[in-house]
Amino acid sequence: MTPRELPIYELENALVASLRAQGRLIVQAPTGSGKSTQLPQMLKAHGFLAQGEVVVLQPRRLAARMLAKRVAEEMRCELGGEVGYQIRLESRVSAKTKIRFVTEGILLRQMSFDPALKGIAALVFDEFHERHLYGDISLARALQIQQTTRPDLKIVVMSATLDAVVLKDYLAPCDVLTSQGRSFPVTVEYLPKPVSFDKENVWDVAARECARVAARTTTGDFLVFMPGAYEISRTLQALQFERDLRDFVIFPLHGELPPEQQDRAVSRYDQRKIIVSTNVAETSLTIDGVTVVVDCGLARVARFDPNRGINTLLIEKISIASADQRAGRAGRTAPGICVRLWTEREHSQRALQELPEVKRLDLSEVVLTLKASGIDDIAAFPWLEKPEPKALERAEVLLTDLGAVAGKRRSITDTGRRMLRFPVHPRYARMLLEADARGCVRPVALMASLTQGRSFLMRGVGRDVEDARDDVLGEETESDFFLLMRAWQYAEKNSYSVDACRRLGIHAQGARQVGPLFKQFLEIAQKEGLDTGETSVDGPAVSKCVLAGFSDQLAKRLDGGTLRCELVHNRRGVLARESAMQKATLLVAAEVSEVEGRGGEVSVLLSLATAIEEPWLKELFPEDYRDAVGVVYDEAARRVIARRERRFRDLVLEAKLTAETPPESAAASLLAREVMAGNITLTEWNENVDQWIVRVNRLAEWFPELEVTPITEGDRATLIEQICYGSYGARELKDKPVMPVLRDWLRPEQLAVLDDYLPERLVMGNGRKARLTYNKEGPPVMSARIQELYGVDGRFTIGHGRVPVKFEVLAPNQRPIQVTDDLTSFWRDMYPKVKAELSRRYPRHEWR
Ligand code: ADP
Ligand code: MG
Repeated sequence: MTPRELPIYELENALVASLRAQGRLIVQAPTGSGKSTQLPQMLKAHGFLAQGEVVVLQPRRLAARMLAKRVAEEMRCELGGEVGYQIRLESRVSAKTKIRFVTEGILLRQMSFDPALKGIAALVFDEFHERHLYGDISLARALQIQQTTRPDLKIVVMSATLDAVVLKDYLAPCDVLTSQGRSFPVTVEYLPKPVSFDKENVWDVAARECARVAARTTTGDFLVFMPGAYEISRTLQALQFERDLRDFVIFPLHGELPPEQQDRAVSRYDQRKIIVSTNVAETSLTIDGVTVVVDCGLARVARFDPNRGINTLLIEKISIASADQRAGRAGRTAPGICVRLWTEREHSQRALQELPEVKRLDLSEVVLTLKASGIDDIAAFPWLEKPEPKALERAEVLLTDLGAVAGKRRSITDTGRRMLRFPVHPRYARMLLEADARGCVRPVALMASLTQGRSFLMRGVGRDVEDARDDVLGEETESDFFLLMRAWQYAEKNSYSVDACRRLGIHAQGARQVGPLFKQFLEIAQKEGLDTGETSVDGPAVSKCVLAGFSDQLAKRLDGGTLRCELVHNRRGVLARESAMQKATLLVAAEVSEVEGRGGEVSVLLSLATAIEEPWLKELFPEDYRDAVGVVYDEAARRVIARRERRFRDLVLEAKLTAETPPESAAASLLAREVMAGNITLTEWNENVDQWIVRVNRLAEWFPELEVTPITEGDRATLIEQICYGSYGARELKDKPVMPVLRDWLRPEQLAVLDDYLPERLVMGNGRKARLTYNKEGPPVMSARIQELYGVDGRFTIGHGRVPVKFEVLAPNQRPIQVTDDLTSFWRDMYPKVKAELSRRYPRHEWR
């Protein structure tokens, strides 16, 4: 099939017309239709690229490179010439480039440095159904740019499967062009019995299933899905042992392979072939000739890990939607088979779809990038899907702690701008920056990689393993990281041999995963011109870098006897027993996890600790380290007293009592807290006060034109604080007047209206007074004894006729007999019976 025959060309005319008319477009067509390779060429053929290039955004580096290569071949030009690509550590572009494939971070960064997008004529968002965080945000930015400085910019959003409704509204006015593509039926087979991959290796199960299908088919290639590079290499080994697969050629495909090997996997061969791939082959790349898919049902998924305060990549089950995509890869060129390594029953319990990344990832990196574009109010940013407010707040607080943003609007700082040079999580960017200044990039890069995976030093090991550890790793007083680093070096030196690792209680597989991360950090540092050489550095230099990256998890030991700690941001925790930092009084924990105890109470466990010396705080974060007068509530004396405090942010490092008078407002807010907690009573805050608040709130509700602000629970705290203002102890507070402060809530004219519209008492037609009770809901209630109501008839209103009143008719003993809104009907229907009964019981009262 020549490219011109691909299904996407059915859409060519509509596509060109729509882009000319609206400047934006959604294209929806199944994998293999020719979206990624052909659409950029169409843009060129129809003159859209006369003034600039098209940038095609790809979620995966591997796909960006391979697509560029393919398109260059089709256009018969050199890669890096008219067609190029740009991924995190690699770039093949030139001044001639008209079609540029890039990964997501690259474009967003470019947008923050060059908001006019000079030289870019069109943006294509490929694989949009994956809903990567960077895709979402880059699209929002692109829209902003198109609506302001670049109305000529063309925007195309492409996807294999798409819930286009939300997107169409978001991009409106915008057409959706759909092509059905061509595909053949795929028979899905499940395992008959569930298999636990803890007991049987996933690669062994996959190899067995490949052999089983190979034995009954004669043509077509195989595509096996595995979660990552390691599982892929194990699968390759397992496949070698299967006799039925002797005639197959076998290739791995994943992002960490050298390019030549990646290309080899998608080339054509005379023999049948098996490709073992990550989910890059799910929709990003189409490999022709595949008729059998073996799907392990797993993928590495990025997710925010609250314990480590970063995103992690852990292996998880894929959704039904993903599994369907994978199955579809078997039916591109002929009818196919998909073997799923799970049971049909398990299948029905899987999630329908993955959550978009914006809902599950840490946002600090993109928030920093947005701030670099001058977007300070990130809640008001036009998100396609709004992240949780809590997640946004968390990101901003972390960036503040790292020194990347500052001020009331939390705008980007110089440090923040320098951090942006490193395409890694802001914590690590901050650490690398610090390491650069202190000449310890290499050990810090290793440390950063150690925090990303699961700890590979097993806990609860036996005596002999502990002794072996002590012998090989030595004693440690500065940082748990240093032990971990030595353990990793030991594992690496022993080629991750399971035996050698077991001797020290090292999880060999976990240690092995550190290597590639370490390499990646070093490459990123090198690319920015940092010195990554092996230098002899002292421990404190490295520890300071840890502090720079984790200052939001600084902890101070509460006492020498226990492991209890107080943390910044008002948290408490306990240092883990296995930490070597048992003597440290000040430390940062790179891991903070919440552990639920037996009684359901949550305790915070601090691990991976590094000892910190107080002067470092001042050195690294001079603005957050200061002396201040603080206040505490002395429970015995029931008074607020003043202290001289040395603080790091809100964490008090040391405090001394002083005879000074505490600052008034701090004292007031402490006292207010005690009042709210019920430990101090304001005797003047009685029922009348509560009624008054209800009246104000109902006045606001019933008469909005008066513009009265209702008093919320939060306002109540503020009011109490105002009452407390100027006092220092419970005794002074006891009889303090309350109403004057409350009355200040209303303007004088509102105050006058309150008594007029919603009075406390009412004079009735017979000249008697009755009390009104106001409730949070429902009408006001006027309560009166029968005898007081003689001569009163009909319905009653207040507030100039706008608020009807209910009557609560009381017996002589004050017990309610009836609640009604119409007294006439009471006298007529109810009264005769009531009178008959009550007049006997209360003969001395008047009964008319
Ligand atoms: P889509 O983006 O719609 O999934 P692509 O543009 O990636 O489709 O691919 C369209 C077709 O081009 C594929 O079905 C395949 O036939 C061919 N193709 C794409 N990339 C390559 C490649 N690297 N090698 C060989 N053929 C390719
Ligand atoms: Mg594609």
